[in-house]
This record gives sequence, C-alpha cells and structure tokens, in this order.
Amino acid sequence: MKSHVIVIDKNYNTKHSITPNALSYKNTKCIISNSIDVNHYVLQRFYKAHGDTYNYSNFKYNNTKTLSTIICKVHGEFKQAYEMHIKHGCKKCGIKSVASQKLNNTQILIDRMYNVRKKAVELGNTDAAGWVAKHCN
Ligand SMILES: [Zn+2]
Repeated sequence: MKSHVIVIDKNYNTKHSITPNALSYKNTKCIISNSIDVNHYVLQRFYKAHGDTYNYSNFKYNNTKTLSTIICKVHGEFKQAYEMHIKHGCKKCGIKSVASQKLNNTQILIDRMYNVRKKAVELGNTDAAGWVAKHCN
C-alpha cells in the first residue's frame, strides 16, 4: 500500500490525500478526487466562486456532472452540476448581469461621445463637434 500525505490547499482551506510520489514527480494538484471531505471541498469552491449568492442546503454532490439543487436567493431553486456551477451559476442572474453590463457599456459610450463633443466645441473644432452630434446622438 502506498502511503499518502495530507496536503492543505490554502486557497480553499481543504485537505487532500496525495502520495509523496505524485506530489514530487507527477505535479498532482489538490482536486476534488483527492479531497478528504468532498462536501466541504465542493462548498468551499462554490463560496469562492459565488460568495453567498446561493443556498446549498439541498445540494448533494455525487460527481462533477450530476445535477443537484441550488437555491438562488433572488430566483429560487434550480438544478446544476458541480462543474457547471463553478463556472456559471443561476441562468436568470446571468441574463440580468449581461443585460445590465450592456446598458452600462452603452451609457459609458454616450458619456464619452458627449465629452468628445464638448472638447471639440471648446477647441473650436465645429466639424468634429458636428460629426459627433450627427452620428452619436
Ligand atoms: Zn438568480
């Protein structure tokens, strides 16, 4: 039997059982399959990725691709697998954040164009000011 050592992943404060050989020669990382307390590891990864956005009291980890219940504090229950949840989260929240991002980008662009036109007016560049007014309002 190969002896294992306990490695603590400082990012997530999780314990992993890895052989010294794997550590020194295979560059084995602390991952879910070698974690000692899988449920603790799963929750640490979720909290690191999403903060306290979700409630995981109904989440049951089976494997990285099996769906389980996650509760979005805004939109309620939805099903998602571990692997997907690390990267994505609630779809409704995702749609909302993309929409508000687009709105923000548009507002930033409008503000910038307004400043460009103001600057052009200040500099007496009526051509540039006129161009901005014509194309960007
Ligand atoms: Zn949501």
